[in-house]
Amino acid sequence: MNEIDVLKSIADNLSERKSTAALNNYEVLCNNIKYVNSLLLWGSSSLLDIYNQLDVAYKNDSYVSDDFKDDSKGFYYFRTIIPRILLNDINIIKKFAYYSQPDDRVGITVETVGKLKKDFIDYNNLVTSTRQFIDSLVADAYQLVLLDAKEMNFQVLTSLYSFDRYATKSIRQALFNSAIQNSLTEFGNLEYNKRVRGQESSITKCDKKSFGEKVDFLFDSLNLSLDTDFKEEIKNLFAFSSEFTHIGYVSTFFTASDAPEVIFSDDISPYLPSTENFSELKYEILETATNFFVKTYLPSVMASLKKSLEPSVFGKFQNSISSIVSKITTDLKTRNNQYYFFIRQGLIGSQEVIDLTCMCGITNHWKPPHDLTNIYCKGCGSKFSLIEVEGDPGYIITSTGPARVIGSSAPDFNELSINEQNKLLRECNMAANNMSAKKISRNEKCPCGSGLKYKKCCGKK
Ligand SMILES: [Zn+2]
Repeated sequence: MNEIDVLKSIADNLSERKSTAALNNYEVLCNNIKYVNSLLLWGSSSLLDIYNQLDVAYKNDSYVSDDFKDDSKGFYYFRTIIPRILLNDINIIKKFAYYSQPDDRVGITVETVGKLKKDFIDYNNLVTSTRQFIDSLVADAYQLVLLDAKEMNFQVLTSLYSFDRYATKSIRQALFNSAIQNSLTEFGNLEYNKRVRGQESSITKCDKKSFGEKVDFLFDSLNLSLDTDFKEEIKNLFAFSSEFTHIGYVSTFFTASDAPEVIFSDDISPYLPSTENFSELKYEILETATNFFVKTYLPSVMASLKKSLEPSVFGKFQNSISSIVSKITTDLKTRNNQYYFFIRQGLIGSQEVIDLTCMCGITNHWKPPHDLTNIYCKGCGSKFSLIEVEGDPGYIITSTGPARVIGSSAPDFNELSINEQNKLLRECNMAANNMSAKKISRNEKCPCGSGLKYKKCCGKK
């Protein structure tokens, strides 16, 4: 190959756009986008609560650790800077959440389906706000873990220095006091090498200059090094979003086509393949961003609080942050999950519509002929596996709770009497404790913890 062959391949590829194919289920994507988007917004409002409490705590000398009490040390000033970083990130998360909302399909008809078309501006808004999200949160998490005066100076002065070069006089006067102006002048007089090296006499330092180096550092510091796939995912998202933000040949070509599209349709409304492709990308980005928020960002906030707060005060913040992480992690896992259902033998293949109520609360009406190859929930994209059971056993005892057999004549759990509910729960408790009923003598106390004899409780014939 010579350079002309290569240039020709580029010219051909950037002018013959292939038709976009619908690669996923649009309804499921919209539901999952709505779910994860709300989850992330909930995370940012919970972070705002943390910010408000922290802003108060840092004003009280008795709440902070000893190093942060002395204004002759750098740590002291982080009492003002840490809340400011959180507030910055809350705003960035809110902007990202704004551009990653689900499509509004209300009132869409064949005539108005064009409203759902996604073009360069939509892609650019989504991906540029993604780039800002991942870039800012990584840079800020890096500062939160380090809490180093010279590193912080470098980040802020670099940003202000660029800003200062074009800012209008009025903006500059509103933002810069004389002290920061002096710092900027000193920073401006330094050669780049002196700014980053952080020698004894220097005012700034930058140990990890690139995005990738900062990510590696964070994963090492937070003991996440084993999660190499996730680390790569973060770096890949950064590279992908940089293409859109900077050079953009591929992104403008991919997203600025005027080619007509075929119209698809589902139970809700008509839609276009480009709409679905856009949603697929949006969901993938949302999932990565939300995972980053709980796996990397919030633990970095926690690291800065551990250093700066007195242990008993830190303990309270630690509980709050841990419960945010735990809720978001658990809720995220409910999307595209795999669930098992017990079903009465003979129901599959019959003429009945089978109602499958998913963990997400959505009931899916599975119509005959029952296609076993692709059963999933329209609410959350979870796949269903069905286990057929003979006869009419009502409930199956599992270690995670009683599971009603679909198609069974037994009433729903809520409609059972309290005694029947308790009995089922005790049996499940036994299953969870892995106790074999056969080994228990009938006159012994029942191992489910009821206090009754086994023969009068779970062993009742
Ligand atoms: Zn579901």
